[in-house]
Amino acid sequence: MTAPLRPGDPTIVKVDLGERAYDIVIGRGLLASLGTRARALKPGAKAAIVCDEAVMPLHLATAEAALKSAGLTSTAIIVGQGEGSKAFATLERVCEGLIAAKVERGDLVIALGGGVVGDLAGFAAAIVRRGLDYIQVPTTLLAQVDSSVGGKTAINSSLGKNLIGAFHQPILVLADTAILDTLPARQFRAGYAELVKHGLLGDAAFFSWLEANAKEVFAGTAAREHAIATSCRMKADIVARDEREAGDRALLNLGHTFGHALEAAAGFSDRLLHGEAIAIGITLAFAFSAKRGLLPQADAERVQRHLAAVGLPTHVSDIPGGPPGVDRLMELMAQDKKVRRGKLIFILAHGIGQAFVAPDVDPAEVRAFIAEKLAEL
Ligand code: NAD
Repeated sequence: MTAPLRPGDPTIVKVDLGERAYDIVIGRGLLASLGTRARALKPGAKAAIVCDEAVMPLHLATAEAALKSAGLTSTAIIVGQGEGSKAFATLERVCEGLIAAKVERGDLVIALGGGVVGDLAGFAAAIVRRGLDYIQVPTTLLAQVDSSVGGKTAINSSLGKNLIGAFHQPILVLADTAILDTLPARQFRAGYAELVKHGLLGDAAFFSWLEANAKEVFAGTAAREHAIATSCRMKADIVARDEREAGDRALLNLGHTFGHALEAAAGFSDRLLHGEAIAIGITLAFAFSAKRGLLPQADAERVQRHLAAVGLPTHVSDIPGGPPGVDRLMELMAQDKKVRRGKLIFILAHGIGQAFVAPDVDPAEVRAFIAEKLAEL
């Protein structure tokens, strides 16, 4: 990672992927530099900005003005907000919009939004004209620390999340931390779960730092930028080692086997945001690891305590409207990508910062664990 030269300079984290390498640029007020940065990478390109209806009134004009002042023309494609947009119908609209706007091979797609817009616009960029370059301008904390980095793009199938997609790396990630000032507090908290995940899976010191500095991160001081940069560096390192998730990259799924099932059971709705589902999923993964004797119960409790301290849900009973039953959860986990030949793939831990891939967890053991958790209600 390149540290800022002067206070106020952006931090640059490199994603080292050979000819697909790119920078993640992190700092306050960076959206105004979108045009010059885009022009440097794609001189003379036409840009299509994909944005959702909630981000549009807040940040689209700044993005458009930045492109215009650098001499780049742009069109905007607006989609509905929320997980429902990661669907075939919206993908079709975005693809047709790109073609109608005459976006060609040398042009550029810009995903201006949270993880939903990033995943959707990135996937459209992967398939229109067999691949267009795109820039991620993540506008949620979750997108800045996680979804905008690493090139996973996808929409959902009616049978499960992210089942239709492609690996397609962006050519730049521009994380303007000032954009997060307009993000609702609940959404910021949900993104914080992914920051915690990065500490828990491989950086115990970062987790301790978060325990001590959470207030500052939420307040938006320089601690926020440090947290985002640390998280991006960890994700960038993992992605550079294992771009297509043949090994280590699966560690980033910590909390996701339980989390995705809970999210699906809640109908991918406001009842339970993705990051909130991951907070419960992480807590369950640590509790399950403790139950298996892999780590001390105290570690599992420490994880739960920190997530709860910042206001995240950590128990299935925290889900508004009540948790799903054990049969439904098992059914949903079996449909996830994290299943192989009847065995469940879990990310478990030997301690804080020591996650590992457990590829052959017996579903009966998971069922008994979930039944126990539901019985605690
Ligand atoms: P999101 O994109 O739905 O954004 C959350 C809400 O915040 C939306 O209503 C949006 O309109 C609003 N919003 C966004 N930025 C805003 C801003 N600056 N000010 C005000 N409102 C703003 O959700 P998300 O949490 O960013 O992303 C979740 C998605 O990310 C899920 O679909 C998940 O599967 C995906 N994801 C992908 C990866 C990956 O590697 N590709 C990793 C993690 C998560």
